[in-house]
Amino acid sequence: MRNVAILGSTGSIGTQTLDIISQNSSELNVVALSAGSNIELLEKQIRQYKPSLVAVWDDKKAAELRQNISDLSGVQVVSQMEGLLAVATIADSDILVTAIVGMLGIRPTIAAIEAGKDIALANKETLVTAGHIIMPLARKNQVKILPVDSEHSAIFQSLQGEEHNEINQILLTASGGPFRGMTWDEMQNVTLEQALNHPNWSMGKKITIDSSTMVNKGLEVMEAHHLFNVNLDKITVVIHPQSILHSAVQFNDGAVIGQMGTPDMRIPISYALFYPERKPINSEYLDLFQVGQMTFEKPDLNAFKGLALAYKAMEQGGNIPTVLNAANEKAVAKFLNNEIRYVQIPEIIGECMENISYINNPNLEEILETEQLTYDYIEGRY
Ligand code: NDP
Repeated sequence: MRNVAILGSTGSIGTQTLDIISQNSSELNVVALSAGSNIELLEKQIRQYKPSLVAVWDDKKAAELRQNISDLSGVQVVSQMEGLLAVATIADSDILVTAIVGMLGIRPTIAAIEAGKDIALANKETLVTAGHIIMPLARKNQVKILPVDSEHSAIFQSLQGEEHNEINQILLTASGGPFRGMTWDEMQNVTLEQALNHPNWSMGKKITIDSSTMVNKGLEVMEAHHLFNVNLDKITVVIHPQSILHSAVQFNDGAVIGQMGTPDMRIPISYALFYPERKPINSEYLDLFQVGQMTFEKPDLNAFKGLALAYKAMEQGGNIPTVLNAANEKAVAKFLNNEIRYVQIPEIIGECMENISYINNPNLEEILETEQLTYDYIEGRY
């Protein structure tokens, strides 16, 4: 039996993780769950999966949840960062699924690694901003970082048994999102509804917007760089609108090994939870005859300025990926709230990258300070 703790159990990845656990209840067991504020869904999850610990960010909501589950015994409810840290390090867990959104995931992920827990990593912001701290720490503590992001899972799967072989390039695929083929000028008046309408994947709102701007792909390039210790010039973004090839690796002999499947996040989630084993999944399996054709294109960096900025942030390094990530988080939140226009998202990111001071090799405090400085910069202006 593998004991699983989940940060962000009420979100898109969190609920799909619980679905995989339900499909494999004799092998996977939930010990801890956490949510931001959705205590209605969290309560349902508590009653179904019977964890001993749950965290809710909001103190008031935590108190309300304690009241609502007072008929249950043996469930502790905690809150705030202390609560997330408790879930991340709970004594009887074997693996932590980081399905929380944003940089809030950094400290719990570090704490879990220090406590010797394997990490099923969905929260890409953690590696983008603190990959230079997290990856060496994971090696030192001999814990596995198992990617949940579908592209990184595909790369990870393609690298199995290839430890001694040289990578020529990583081919990181992208669907291109709802605005593929549009020019920058044509994007000026796109609406929130259009941006939330992803052609292939069903995901949380923030990452759906990030996919449409291709900032998400930029974050994924940085994530791949840290996870697989590969230089940025060896990571190529390939637009593949059908989302069937989830990414691939080309080795030094020219051979390309990739992973294909339906666009279903439960495949990489299951692979991370059971690694190195594969388990049957109650989902539609890939039918190549139905797919028919797979196509590939180069990304348009003039139209998708967010991707171009991500490359620039990676080249600059230091705390600039944190500036990009924090500026994007804030700008996307403002767009979701109808406070700014769609095209202002990359404009705000670019402005922050030019105005926040550079820090080389930032430590955790400096990363979190950079995040706050970026938020404050935007709040003062937009
Ligand atoms: P969602 O927005 O669907 O879910 C986010 C989760 O985090 C929810 O459980 C939410 O709780 C919780 N949360 C939010 N704020 C807080 C807080 N202050 N304290 C504690 N918990 C909080 O996001 P996704 O599942 O889409 O994404 C999660 C992560 O996985 C992101 O980093 C994303 O980039 C990454 N990812 C997602 C993919 C996908 O297919 N969705 C694919 C690959 C990576 P509540 O419900 O209460 O708000």
